Amino acid sequence: MKNSLSQARPLPDITLEDVGGLSDEMKEDILQTLSILKEKDLSTRLGIEPPRGILLYGPPGTGKTLLAQAIAREIGASFFSSSGSAFTELFVGVGASRVRSLFKEARKQKPAVIFIDEVDALAGRRKAQGGEEGEKTLTELLVQLDGGHDNDSLLFIAATNRRDMLDEAFLRPGRIDFSFHVTLPDAKGRKEIIDIHAKGRNLTDNAAAMLLDLAESTVGFSGAELSALFETASRSAIRSGRDTIEKKDFDYALDRTILGTTTRPLADP
Ligand code: ATP
Repeated sequence: MKNSLSQARPLPDITLEDVGGLSDEMKEDILQTLSILKEKDLSTRLGIEPPRGILLYGPPGTGKTLLAQAIAREIGASFFSSSGSAFTELFVGVGASRVRSLFKEARKQKPAVIFIDEVDALAGRRKAQGGEEGEKTLTELLVQLDGGHDNDSLLFIAATNRRDMLDEAFLRPGRIDFSFHVTLPDAKGRKEIIDIHAKGRNLTDNAAAMLLDLAESTVGFSGAELSALFETASRSAIRSGRDTIEKKDFDYALDRTILGTTTRPLADP
C-alpha cells in the first residue's frame, strides 16, 4: 500500500521570481543548473553530467522549500516531498522500506523531484545518529541515490538547517552535486521579499516609502517572518474595518513580532 510519503504533491504556482533575496551569484548558479537539467541531451554531448542531488542549507524560513518547489516547476517535474524525520522509525526496516518506496514511486512519475526537508534526521553522521536502524535507513538512501540509469530525470533536493551534522558519504559528489547556502536576507533581499508579498494586496497610497522603511527596520527577519508580517498587518486592517493596509498595521505587526523574539541581531551581518 502507498503511504502519503510516496505520493506526488501538487505544486503551488511559483517560479524563481517568487523567491526573493537570493544573491546574484546564487541566482546565476541556479539558472545554470536548471539549464543543464532542461537541456540534458546537449549537456551530455558537452560531457556535462546532469546533477543528481542538490543541498539547500541555511536558517529556518529562508525559502529552501519554496526554492525546491520553484526548481521542480521550472523543469516540469512532479514533486514528492517529505521530512527526514518521517523516515526515522522505531520499527525494524520501516525507514529503509519508506525510502525505497518513495524512490520507486518517483521513478514511475519521471521527471520527478524528491524533496526531503530536515534531511539531517535521515542523513546525519552515522556515529552521531547512532542506532542500527538509522544506519540502515541512511544506507538505503545512499543506494537509491546511486541508482544508476534508473535515476535519469530524477532530481533529489535536500534541505537542512544543520549542514554540519550531515554524513560525509551523503555529501559525496554524484549524490549531492551542488550545495547552496540560503542565508537570511540583507536589506536589499528583504525589500525583494517584501515586494513579492506586497503583490496583490491593497496598500495605502504612500506604499513605496512604507515598504522601503519596512525593509530597513526588519534586520534579522527571515522570508517566513516577513511573510507573517504581511498576514498580521492584513488582519490588523480587517479588524479596523479597512480594505487598505497602512503603516500603523505594519507597526502593530512589527511590535508583535519583536516582542515575541529576543534573539534578533541588531544589524545586518
Ligand atoms: P525551514 O528550514 O523551516 O523548513 P524554509 O527555508 O524551507 O524553512 P520556506 O518553508 O520555504 O522556508 O518558507 C516559508 C514561507 O515563507 C514561504 O512559503 C514564503 O511565503 C515565505 N518565504 C520564505 N523565504 C522566502 C523568500 N526568500 N522569498 C519569498 N518568500 C519567502
